[in-house]
Amino acid sequence: MIIVTRKGISPEEIDRIRERVEALGLRTHVSVGETRTVIGCIGDEARLAHVPLLSVPGVQSVHPVMRPYKLAARDFNADKTTKVRVGDRVFGGRACLVAAGPCSVEGEAMMKETGSAVAAAGAALLRGGAFKPRTSPYSFSGLKEEGLRILAEVREETGLPVVTEVLDPRHAELVAGYVDMLQIGARNMQNFALLTEVGQLRRPVLLKRGMSATLKDLLLAAEYVMARGNLQVVLCERGIRTFGKETRNTFDLAAIPWLKRETHLPVIADPSHAGGRRDLVAPLGFAAVAAGADGLIVEVHPEPESALSDGDQSLLFGEFERLMRDLAAFAGAAGRSL
Ligand code: PEP
Ligand code: MN
Repeated sequence: MIIVTRKGISPEEIDRIRERVEALGLRTHVSVGETRTVIGCIGDEARLAHVPLLSVPGVQSVHPVMRPYKLAARDFNADKTTKVRVGDRVFGGRACLVAAGPCSVEGEAMMKETGSAVAAAGAALLRGGAFKPRTSPYSFSGLKEEGLRILAEVREETGLPVVTEVLDPRHAELVAGYVDMLQIGARNMQNFALLTEVGQLRRPVLLKRGMSATLKDLLLAAEYVMARGNLQVVLCERGIRTFGKETRNTFDLAAIPWLKRETHLPVIADPSHAGGRRDLVAPLGFAAVAAGADGLIVEVHPEPESALSDGDQSLLFGEFERLMRDLAAFAGAAGRSL
């Protein structure tokens, strides 16, 4: 921690700041400049986290040196990307993994049909929501446990591990009993009770960025899960809310390389929710993989025009097949495989 003092601070005020810091077991180093005096605090910075240093007379600004997220920070795992295993698939290896499937599980037949189509096209995981977070309380909110049962059945048929969203801490164990990976959606990224709950389970977590969350907020949300002992976290950029109205969300492409530098956790992108339109899915997906994403999550539906949620952004089977074919070239150029 570095404390910058106000211009013209008195020696007594400097002593008072030092005493405050040293009383917590840290050492201080005072460096007197032309106009400012800077006090370096040496020792466990966490001890200062809850001290209101800005209100100590003479303090102008306070600059933490350590990251507030410890387990998620890149330093925690040196130069490696953490491998997150989901069934027999691995996020964070050389291969980019694509999870595909409908926004919502709408029934057994459509799930089986979608499962075999995306498996044949090269998807690594099957997605589908059984508990759906909907903006309106009157919209379709998922088949709940029946949807989980269908997902588990389609996994048996296709061999694809399954990822689905968990909305409520009370359902976490139930959902974990059926599927291979637990998705925390954008609307729940800062539901700390839910993060704590999935942190206690031993199931990999797909953590989506909240629509108004900074990247630091996202890493601190991951930290909640990891602090409970579950280190198997994959981050997902899915677009954020901005003043732009032309696309559903604003895809933050820079988030991908920034996160890859800042954390050792695998990072994937969701071009479906980012763009909100079928024709934007492929270009955003290519860009994400070119920028270093470890994978994508994509919505695919047998008949998007009659989908119960997110039909406009869902790809037809043929479109998904083409996406997978074209994506291989971008993955190759980024030194990855599909
Ligand atoms: C979803 O994946 O269908 C979903 C609801 O995503 P998000 O939480 O990113 O809006
Ligand atoms: Mn959706």
